[in-house]
Amino acid sequence: MMGSPPIMLLDSITTLLQRYEHGHEISLDEACLMLRQAQVALIKAQERSHQLEHSRVASLAHAAELHDTRQWLASLRQDVDSFREETELLSAFGDILDRSLNEIYIFDANSLNFLHVNHGAQTNIGYSMEELRRMRPVDIKPDHTFETFAKLVQPLLDGSSRIIQFETVHRRKDGSTYPVQVKLERSVLGKRSVFIAVILDITERNKFDRELRRSREIAIAADRSKSEFLANMSHEIRTPMTAILGYGDILTDATASDADRHAASVAIQRNGKHLLELINEILDLSKIEAGKLTIERRVTPIMNLVEDVRELLADRAVQRGNELLIEVKGRVPTTVVTDSTRLKQALVNLVGNAIKFTKDGTVSVTLSCDAARERMKIAIADTGIGIAEDQLSKVFAPFSQADSSTTRNYGGTGLGLTITKRISELLGGDLSVDSKVGAGSVFSIEFSTGSLDQAIWADRWSVRRTARATASASTPKSHRLAGRFLVVEDGLDNQRLIKLVLEKLDAEVTVVENGKEGVDAALEAVRTGRPYDIILMDMQMPVMDGYTATAHLRQQGYERPIIALTAHAMHGEANRCLKAGCDAYLSKPINRTQFYDELSRWLSDSDDATEPATRTGTPADALN
Ligand code: ADP
Repeated sequence: MMGSPPIMLLDSITTLLQRYEHGHEISLDEACLMLRQAQVALIKAQERSHQLEHSRVASLAHAAELHDTRQWLASLRQDVDSFREETELLSAFGDILDRSLNEIYIFDANSLNFLHVNHGAQTNIGYSMEELRRMRPVDIKPDHTFETFAKLVQPLLDGSSRIIQFETVHRRKDGSTYPVQVKLERSVLGKRSVFIAVILDITERNKFDRELRRSREIAIAADRSKSEFLANMSHEIRTPMTAILGYGDILTDATASDADRHAASVAIQRNGKHLLELINEILDLSKIEAGKLTIERRVTPIMNLVEDVRELLADRAVQRGNELLIEVKGRVPTTVVTDSTRLKQALVNLVGNAIKFTKDGTVSVTLSCDAARERMKIAIADTGIGIAEDQLSKVFAPFSQADSSTTRNYGGTGLGLTITKRISELLGGDLSVDSKVGAGSVFSIEFSTGSLDQAIWADRWSVRRTARATASASTPKSHRLAGRFLVVEDGLDNQRLIKLVLEKLDAEVTVVENGKEGVDAALEAVRTGRPYDIILMDMQMPVMDGYTATAHLRQQGYERPIIALTAHAMHGEANRCLKAGCDAYLSKPINRTQFYDELSRWLSDSDDATEPATRTGTPADALN
């Protein structure tokens, strides 16, 4: 391989020097030639070096330029990418707007012809784009003419408004209409001046607004009726209260005659009973309003239940000179599954009203059954005063009486029908009325019978008895309760009253003031061999309440009858007393018949016993 000229020259000079060192002759020409060659080679090398230097600088500049170009290309690519993304986004946005259920209409600002209508609008309005291109907004706005619409959009045309908003109605191709809210603005599409209308179907919003307005009205009315209810309640309670206090004054007046005193006692009793009835009805109503009135369905012998109602009201019917009839129309099942307590309450109210508003007439109670619907109907018809047509719908409202003179003439609270109607609904039926002034009324209560698959049918069974015939059956018998009673009661008046009632029945009575004293007295009596026959236990007392005292006595092995006596009328109270260990439950105020019946039952049970400490019957028996 050939070396480069400088290298070759170096080789030649080295050879020449070696020859000179080894004593060889070297000619001057030879040396000069060599030197010239060396000079030429050097010049060439220098030129080459310059060339190389020059091209190195050039290639460096080239590389920098290349780098810049690459960077520019990269940023250009980035720009292109983001531009593509934006274009895709815009096109997707356009698609969404086009498919949106919100309606978008674009129409020419001069001709008002539709240019583009999104898909949502086409679907809702029912016209195709082809049809719409030949139409204008007034063609779908029955509320507007060309003139009214032109006037409406004028502020957009003259620039005084950038956007206008209004509500109108749109008419679909099929002729149906729907309310809309329109937002209209002016814009430019290509070179055209256009209007863009965004339409919101406000059918739902209007419905919601209407419901809201209605709820508000109901809330205001409820608030008003609550205030009226309270005012009424206060009035209803004050009236008998005033009478009781007034007649009470007469009783304490030493100068009052025996006849006055007797009349005062009768009036106090009457008003007290009315007050109690009112409180019970208010309690029932508040339970109904709070949705807390529970229904307990049991197998109920329906004719027995109706007979009970008849027996209860027979005296009242006789006093008003009314005949009380019970009839059965068609076939009725002998038993139904219903809440007997609530059904009885409803019937007592309806039959009681019929008797109250009828004088020397007829009240008939007719039972019938729609077996297919598993519904029973009891229609209470009277030949009494009747109710005016415009008052018929009001009688079911709380505290409302058909006539303002009703209370004065007939008493009553105006709550009975409200409660009865609610009960009938809870029993799976309804209460309706038909009446004519002067001719009488028919109140019909319907209720569900439960399944009639296994029913035993009474075929044309009819009970037809008059109240007069049986009225004498309810005259009071002479009662005796000869036994030892421990009365555990903190209220002074109640202590006196219970003692008085018991002593009148020949009972021997010891009274103590609270549960603790009751426990001590009862255990002491057992220890001394003279146990009490019955403990009457108040449940709410200071120091130790009746629940604790009863539980304590049972823990100590006390087995004799303990009967709860409580003013708590709420549902579940009886169970609470029985759970504490009581044998039975009586509520205050004392109903003398019930009081006597319950106590005599327990007294005769303990009479039968050979040993003193005896508990008979299950708590459930005790409640029946
Ligand atoms: P009240 O305690 O006043 O009887 P109700 O709610 O039971 O309350 O009845 C409301 C009103 O309906 C009564 O005051 C009376 O005006 C009317 N009413 C109810 N039943 C009858 C009936 N059988 N005959 C005539 N009017 C009746």
